[in-house]
Amino acid sequence: MSLHGDYDSQNIFAKIIRGEAPCYKLYEDDDVLAFLDVFPQSYGHTLVIPKRSAARNILEVDPGALSKMALAVQKLTRVLVAELEPAGVQVAQFNGNPAGQTVFHIHMHIVPRYEGDTLGVHASQKADAAELEKLQARLVKRLNG
Ligand code: 5GP
Repeated sequence: MSLHGDYDSQNIFAKIIRGEAPCYKLYEDDDVLAFLDVFPQSYGHTLVIPKRSAARNILEVDPGALSKMALAVQKLTRVLVAELEPAGVQVAQFNGNPAGQTVFHIHMHIVPRYEGDTLGVHASQKADAAELEKLQARLVKRLNG
């Protein structure tokens, strides 16, 4: 699968949207879902996805869904910065294998960056579940506070 192809409704993010796979949810409304990345590139690495758009990438997504995703990215970035106080934040979006895409439901990454970070694009380690739960609780509290 790469830049062009059919949308696979069995991809992991589609399963998360349908509630068939779990996630550490931070925010959800009718149009978007935000949750913690389980292979985080940094503490607080968050993913934002459109819920109603069966689009694999930025070429396919409809402008309305793209706009709503971008607005949610800003909202979540503000929350992450307020709560975790990183020194910087990467917002990234990959299209096609050669660009780094591994899950073919369009998504945006929010990656808080801390002083001394090495800028990895793909993490190899799955995060500890208890740590993710703690972080989720902290961020949801800030989001709703
Ligand atoms: P991509 O490389 O396609 O831009 O990003 C896909 C992201 O999804 C990666 O950062 C990867 O760690 C993350 N990911 C893969 N599988 C899962 C999963 O089952 N749950 C969550 N929360 N994130 C996942």
